[in-house]
Amino acid sequence: MDEETRLIRAGTAPRSLVKTVGPPIQKGSTVLLPNAEALYDDDHHVTYGRQGLAAQGALQDALATLEGAVGVSLYPSGLAALAGALLAVLKAGDQVLVSDAIYKPTRRFCDHVLKRFGISTTYFDPEAEAEPLVAGASDAVRLILMESPGSLTFEMQDQAAVARLARDRGILTATDNTWAAGYLYRPLEHGIDISIQALTKYVGGHSDVFMGSAAARDPELVRRLDDGVLHLGWAVSQEDAYQMLRGLRTLPTRLARHGESALRIAHWLKARPEVAEVYHPALPGAPGHELFARDYSGGCGLFAFALKPAPEEAVNGFLDALTLFGLGFSWGGFESLAISCEPQLKTRKFRRDYGGPLIRLHVGLESPDDLIADLAQGLAAYERLAG
Ligand SMILES: *Cc1c(COP(=O)(O)O)cnc(C)c1O
Repeated sequence: MDEETRLIRAGTAPRSLVKTVGPPIQKGSTVLLPNAEALYDDDHHVTYGRQGLAAQGALQDALATLEGAVGVSLYPSGLAALAGALLAVLKAGDQVLVSDAIYKPTRRFCDHVLKRFGISTTYFDPEAEAEPLVAGASDAVRLILMESPGSLTFEMQDQAAVARLARDRGILTATDNTWAAGYLYRPLEHGIDISIQALTKYVGGHSDVFMGSAAARDPELVRRLDDGVLHLGWAVSQEDAYQMLRGLRTLPTRLARHGESALRIAHWLKARPEVAEVYHPALPGAPGHELFARDYSGGCGLFAFALKPAPEEAVNGFLDALTLFGLGFSWGGFESLAISCEPQLKTRKFRRDYGGPLIRLHVGLESPDDLIADLAQGLAAYERLAG
């Protein structure tokens, strides 16, 4: 052969891989098939790299174990998982019921994209009882999308009861279970049809990779979710899948620490004179605690509290005084974060009186004593500015 051909063909002979703890990272769009018949045999062969290779497959297997699922679809972000799952099961003319406390960008997707395709969204009170919610659904309702505890405001809903009643009416149920990371609460075991999470948060655990998943038990639903990804042309990279799998290994260990520290800080805040209310379902006496105690094996690091009413500059003064809590969105990483919630609550239909301006904390893996000292000096700044 000519040297040009020899160079192009060199180094392509497969060598058997040595065994490592994690899966190999296979780079490939083209997959070489063993024979002509295999080229179009999608049932028995991966025929194209977009379908996922070793690392994606290993992550899907591990997530199926975590969620108690028959199949898990992967998406390039948590929001893509929510959008992808909705698009996979809804069609023009359908109606979807969505918790008013849903993650705000999910609401944006429903209001802007689903609407253009003739799918209408009705928002329900995140604390709605299952019976009136399902009984009040019109015949056009195809899906109920829950999020419990709710984003920013942490309302709890009896998701199992909603799933049971919805099934009797032929309505699908799905939940954004990012808070429980598929570990502290396992939606599929409670009868919910689709368990969705932003792996970006606790599964990744280091605030540096985007990914989402949707898990299901019913093989027909698993196929529809997979087809949804196939039709939209989405794929996640080998490297990102590998990073997610690495995060998953320490998920239970990290969650135990996040949960313990957050509960301690929630108790401490509850006793502070500057604090009006603490919204953390793992805190005894907090809203939704009974449902939490019934269904959850523990809490994570994310909760909110209301400062006593004060001018905005005092609230911002509290946040600006914090040194260990970074000011930033997202959560689930090793680091502590804080945000004010008010600007994100403006589109809510069911607004409550939270007792004062809401602050959301993500309690990271730092020493809880140091975090409490940081909050104490933040509250001192708030006191000074609140006058
Ligand atoms: C962050 C988040 C998402 C979206 O995840 P991305 O990976 O950032 O797209 C969805 N739901 C909840 C509850 C979240 O907190």
